[in-house]
Amino acid sequence: MSERAAPFYCPYCGDEDLRPNETGHGAWECASCNRAFQLKFLGLLTRGVQRSDGEGDAI
Ligand SMILES: [Zn+2]
Repeated sequence: MSERAAPFYCPYCGDEDLRPNETGHGAWECASCNRAFQLKFLGLLTRGVQRSDGEGDAI
């Protein structure tokens, strides 16, 4: 599979020292806090793509 989602920061301690976990797809481990976690793509939202930068269409 070519899908790849690489986290930049550990969601638990915020460290950047992340390495792929051998558990499998989307699994990462943090060398700083010693946690392993997994990223999972849940699917697209039904409401479609929206920009949250505040410069979009006013509803
Ligand atoms: Zn961490």
